[in-house]
Amino acid sequence: MVGFAFSANGDHGTKEGFRHPTTDQSSKSVMLRGEHQDEIQIRKVEQKISADHPVPKSVVIKQRTNTYYGPKLLAVAESGKEYLLTAPGPNSHLLLWMEKLNQQGSRTSWVELAEVSGQLAENKVGYHLCHQCNKPLKTMEHRRLASVGQCPNIS
Ligand SMILES: [Zn+2]
Repeated sequence: MVGFAFSANGDHGTKEGFRHPTTDQSSKSVMLRGEHQDEIQIRKVEQKISADHPVPKSVVIKQRTNTYYGPKLLAVAESGKEYLLTAPGPNSHLLLWMEKLNQQGSRTSWVELAEVSGQLAENKVGYHLCHQCNKPLKTMEHRRLASVGQCPNIS
């Protein structure tokens, strides 16, 4: 028995004993590329967890945090409510959490709202342009380097 194959995009194989990965490509790119001010469209509610609460159609990222468990996106809906988006793993959809507020309106915890598929809205908010090469800042790397004046297209 010689190892076992991983597919080119890094997903686990579909060998016996493994669930077929269900995270679709657009949801992956939400978690990999989503940055401050990007809009995320909720394409599909895969599974409702908190039945009584509506799922927003789209949210805008307020903050990206990279944790030991992977990226965590804090996002806000048009209603002003805040949500958290996490990626549980290769064989799961994205997990959307809603904030739980106390009577004073302060957030006390996060509650699982739904499993969702999402995508980055390419044009609505639009990419910021790099002030050095004037091209859209589509990748984290480009954005990070441009922010310290080292655009990879220039140097
Ligand atoms: Zn640039």
